[in-house]
Amino acid sequence: MARRPEEYRTGLWVDWCPGCGNYGILQAVTLAMAELGLEPEKTVVVSGIGCSGKTPHYIYANGVHTLHGRAIPFATGIKLANPELTVIVHGGDGDLLGIGAGHFVALGRRNLDITVILHNNQVYGLTKGQASPTLPYGVKTKALPKPNIQDMLNPVALAVASGYTFVARGYALDVKGLADLVKKAIRHRGAALIDVLQPCVTYNDVYTVQFYRKALYRLEEADPSWDPVVHSPEEEPAKRAQALAKAMEWGNRIPIGIFYHDPHKPSFEDRIARLLPGYREAPPAKQRITEPGGSPAGGNQLLEVFRDKLVNVKSRGRRGTATPN
Ligand code: SF4
Repeated sequence: MARRPEEYRTGLWVDWCPGCGNYGILQAVTLAMAELGLEPEKTVVVSGIGCSGKTPHYIYANGVHTLHGRAIPFATGIKLANPELTVIVHGGDGDLLGIGAGHFVALGRRNLDITVILHNNQVYGLTKGQASPTLPYGVKTKALPKPNIQDMLNPVALAVASGYTFVARGYALDVKGLADLVKKAIRHRGAALIDVLQPCVTYNDVYTVQFYRKALYRLEEADPSWDPVVHSPEEEPAKRAQALAKAMEWGNRIPIGIFYHDPHKPSFEDRIARLLPGYREAPPAKQRITEPGGSPAGGNQLLEVFRDKLVNVKSRGRRGTATPN
């Protein structure tokens, strides 16, 4: 059932700087949630630290504002505990690709059904504009005393190489286009990344609204034959190579749209369900953890096993034989 985007807003005061691209992302995400009719009680929004980290406070759904770089591990635990939930991660380029880079890669390798929305403004906005992992080499933004001396990391290329099965790039001020990408990413069963180019009006005076107005172009408009979908497993290597080549295009012309979409690869939950029959029906979040009286469910059986092992270890240590006492 479609809802109104306002139903997904908490009403809390939004304290991003006036003109920040994050407003566009918030609008696009709530629009997508409304059009998908997501149930707030079955949706979880997880964030780390940074300006983007405030997002769960503003979205009416379950929310976790967690540690720096750890949004993906939290989201992984939530999704595995209850695979019925829709889980959306919001993180900045510093949070997800600096301290959180290992988790970012691991999510792709697992292909867990989580949507990652990367607020990519090329700076650490919350701590006053230091260079983030996505700022290109040689670029000097106004908070930097000298041009950046590190190479940039390309989130789209990293996601494709890591195994994400839906990879797109959007623009924060293109609310309708971004909402469309968010809807597709949430509907996709597997790890999804949307790299959202988000102007930081306070600290980034290079990648500005004016810059993006000139530089951005849509993949499918520039090339009507552009097809990011992997139609059969045999096509995967060629489609991955095509996405990587396009992802590396960066400079005065920057493509937005869907780079890669593989609907065939099994999600991590599907792989677990193959190993553990009954996982889908009774995942950890649905298992009984206490007896009616409040004692831990199955606790007595576990204690018996534990006691038995203790006795054996103790006895072996003394005489090399198991002699319960
Ligand atoms: Fe937005 Fe930049 Fe302000 Fe953070 S510092 S709220 S990213 S404009």
